[in-house]
Amino acid sequence: LFDFKIILGKNGVPVAENFRLEQSTMADTIQAGQVRVRTLYLSVDPYMRCRMNEDTGSDYLLPWQLSQVVDGGGIGVVEESKHGDLAKGDFVTSFNWPWQTVAILDGSSLQKLVPQLVNGRLSYFLGAAGITGLTALLGVREKGHVAVGANQTMVVSGAAGACGSLAGQIGRLEGCSRVVGIAGTDEKCSILVQEMGFDAAINYKKEDVAKQLRELCPGGVDVYFDNVGGDISDTVISQMNQNSHIILCGQISQYNKDVPYPPPLPPDIEKIQKERNITRERFLVLNYMDKQEASVLQLCQWIQEGKLKVRETTVEGLANIGAAFQSMMNGGNIGKQIVSVSK
Ligand code: NAP
Repeated sequence: LFDFKIILGKNGVPVAENFRLEQSTMADTIQAGQVRVRTLYLSVDPYMRCRMNEDTGSDYLLPWQLSQVVDGGGIGVVEESKHGDLAKGDFVTSFNWPWQTVAILDGSSLQKLVPQLVNGRLSYFLGAAGITGLTALLGVREKGHVAVGANQTMVVSGAAGACGSLAGQIGRLEGCSRVVGIAGTDEKCSILVQEMGFDAAINYKKEDVAKQLRELCPGGVDVYFDNVGGDISDTVISQMNQNSHIILCGQISQYNKDVPYPPPLPPDIEKIQKERNITRERFLVLNYMDKQEASVLQLCQWIQEGKLKVRETTVEGLANIGAAFQSMMNGGNIGKQIVSVSK
């Protein structure tokens, strides 16, 4: 049994050494209501950066405690069950899966998974058919004001990441006529256009984003799916149309800084936002869990029909999860960053 234990949670850039691997023993027997699970996949996500601070800045996120086992989204298989609804061999998931190879969990804290819904690609339940897909779909539907036939142009930042790559495709499926992505490498940009159906993509590390946007979005921007905040978002907002909409999904460029969420816009950009009546409402997927079941089914249907292309970047082994988190925060991933713990 291996545990990951955080040894440092500071306000700065996370490093792999913020995590420590330890071996410990586990009870041989499980109690009534419990199950013993073997971990298959773990998720590393940007929100975890907030859990590294004593004050997470959100009432729905608890800080990780020093020298305690880290937890997050995970998937595993039941190896022994004393819970009536779960049997050996069932695949299960939780948002609070401990970063351990094996764990004893309360059966009632787990959701059963149906592998057939994702053609057996179980890890998709941490991404395209899980919280990530829900964030993209519900973000577009709840805050995007996308309408078929409205000839809208959507821009997505963090476009080659887990949420962004789905958000652009979903924007198109829901009716946008033009979808442009912004991402950090040429490879990401070419995958967005060639594989995911984006009309164009801008490498923000190499190109002049303002100039490219003017060329690629000649009618201005109607919907902006914002994953990153900061300078990129200020540039996009400057080119947004009257009565347009920001889907305020995340602000990853600000997560290593001590700023409130959502971070206020610079005064000149805020002036544009107000004058043009651009909506910028806070969006949190957890507020829409009543729509989870129907939305997951929609995502699975699109995946099965090939309408939603899914990319994952997989790192093998629990020992590498800290490095996987650090890499994702620095743009090392294309699509969803997954850690494969056991087969
Ligand atoms: P992700 O996009 O797969 O991974 C993070 C990506 O952010 C990296 O690959 C990197 O790509 C980009 N990035 C890192 N630093 C950046 C910077 N300074 N400027 C621009 N881009 C930067 O992660 P994800 O899980 O899909 O999350 C994306 C966003 O959605 C995050 O902001 C997250 O907090 C948010 N989110 C919100 C909700 C919600 O309910 N509102 C739920 C889930 C996720 P590049 O190579 O392009 O730099």
